Amino acid sequence: MSIPHTFVQELLARADVVEIVGRHVPLKKGGANFMGLCPFHSEKSPSFSVSPSKQFYHCFGCGKSGDAINFLMEHLGMSFVEAVQDLAQQFGMQVPEDDASPQDRARAAQQKEIKGTLCSVLENACKAYQKHLKNSPKAIAYFKQRGVSGQSAKQFGLGYAPEGWRTLASAFPQYDDPLLVESGLVIVSEEEGAESKRYDRFRDRVMFPIRNIKGECIGFGGRVLGDDKPKYLNSPETPVFSKGHELYGLFEARAALREHGYALVTEGYMDVVALAQLGFPNAVATLGTACTADHVHKLFRFTDAVIFSFDGDSAGRRAARKALDAALPLATDVRSVKFLFLPPEHDPDSFIRAHGKEAFARFVSEAVPLSQFLLDSARDNCDLQTPEGRAHFASNAKPLWEVMPPGALKQQLLSEIADKVQLSNRELLDVWRISPVKNPRKRSESYQQKSDNRFADKGYSQKIRQGSGVARATSSTRQPASRADHAARILLDNMAILESLTNEDHALLCALGAPQGPLFSWMEAQYHEHGVQPWVALRAGLQGHESEVYATRIMTGHELVSADDPGEALGELRHLLNRMLVEQLKTDETQAIAAAKTDPTALQRYRELQARRLMLEATTKT
Ligand SMILES: [Zn+2]
Repeated sequence: MSIPHTFVQELLARADVVEIVGRHVPLKKGGANFMGLCPFHSEKSPSFSVSPSKQFYHCFGCGKSGDAINFLMEHLGMSFVEAVQDLAQQFGMQVPEDDASPQDRARAAQQKEIKGTLCSVLENACKAYQKHLKNSPKAIAYFKQRGVSGQSAKQFGLGYAPEGWRTLASAFPQYDDPLLVESGLVIVSEEEGAESKRYDRFRDRVMFPIRNIKGECIGFGGRVLGDDKPKYLNSPETPVFSKGHELYGLFEARAALREHGYALVTEGYMDVVALAQLGFPNAVATLGTACTADHVHKLFRFTDAVIFSFDGDSAGRRAARKALDAALPLATDVRSVKFLFLPPEHDPDSFIRAHGKEAFARFVSEAVPLSQFLLDSARDNCDLQTPEGRAHFASNAKPLWEVMPPGALKQQLLSEIADKVQLSNRELLDVWRISPVKNPRKRSESYQQKSDNRFADKGYSQKIRQGSGVARATSSTRQPASRADHAARILLDNMAILESLTNEDHALLCALGAPQGPLFSWMEAQYHEHGVQPWVALRAGLQGHESEVYATRIMTGHELVSADDPGEALGELRHLLNRMLVEQLKTDETQAIAAAKTDPTALQRYRELQARRLMLEATTKT
């Protein structure tokens, strides 16, 4: 789904980043900005600043920064579309879709409504299960015996689904409501000839509500109290629940992931609850399924370090291998992925109970790095003492190495693999039939620089010549680019200043050559259409505009150093404009003198121009 950028722009112009951040982070006014403890890194004194005038947050500790949409994405882990929808909802705005037909839109709206309804049905069931837990000595005894405190039970919303086929009927008087089936709570059995029978999916199980990143209940995991089979039962795939996407405990662990600096991925809900209680609130679990790329991707939205924990048996080994496959394409140089193999008789819960919290923390710190596990996995059953074994190893390693993102880690692994195979890097790549690519990132960077330079030199002069007037082109090319850049920066940062400019100023700015001139013209149109907007909104509005690249470039990194005082910014701009006017007048004077040979009025014009310039120069001392 693609959202028109003008809509995003409107949204950012309306949103108040202070209010949105303030809902999640306690903020105090300090000067022009608001300050608080950074939600993205752990700190004792506030270095997280939110600017109401710039509609922008920035942490001086960890460097995270962005607008209201970025905050929702970073802090709540929403996708871009989810963040836009969330904001739109707050303003009662309907998110338009660029390329959707009315039917598609209607279907999407319907889907959204269904999802909302399903979530509220599941939430209802969650409350019912919690109530049942309070009245079930058996279930309470189970949790107690597993060491689960009342506080943990409350935090994770644990519950109990009683024995009996239709106990949910007490929470849902209309038991034949199709929503109960669609949400996975109720099963319909269709027997030949017989009437369909409905009954609760979860019976006599302790219940673990599964929440999405917004905290909405989207499904359940249920565990038997005794030794019945299946031991674990999850909600089926529904419009709101997909095992391959969701991680149990992620909602509850969000803050802890940042605080502890890593996510510990376990294999079960009980692990997550137990670990949280034993001092590892940064644990999450896959839902009875192998770890997918979606899972890993989701985790990397919250932390740069992931440790997968597995049982030490062969099933655990196989699960670890799947996690490796899922993580490899995302293993960039700034991320850390490790693998923890518990002794065969232990899960994390029992390990900590047997050996203590410190021993587990030490064990975690000694987890196997991804690079090591990749080599181990490739070596499986290969005898590196023989040429055959080494060749086999090389062929096992190729698909693993190939999917890694480019970077220093990948490069080092190449050397390690080559070393083990007793070939040079070059020879190994030849064997793999991969052509060596030297630092592709660097190449694209220099290309970027080159294309940026076009703004500074001849690239645009052609365009200018094709413009409306020759005079316009000459005068604009004479303006030192840095002055116009500076003016553009001030105006993009303080759009309200446009109100204080004279007609002459406007004309001067809009007559500049590209990229500045078209940008000023665009801003003026924006001002008349939408009024004053913060840079974050302008940036969204510029998407696809010819000045987008230019504006983004001059504003990059600028948010932090610019003045917050509009008066100061206006003074600075006035000074720049006067100097630009002086330059302009000089050009005009030269033209007037030249014209005076044939045009008698030109001399008079020259005198006027000169008088005006001298006056400006007198008021604009550098
Ligand atoms: Zn920070």
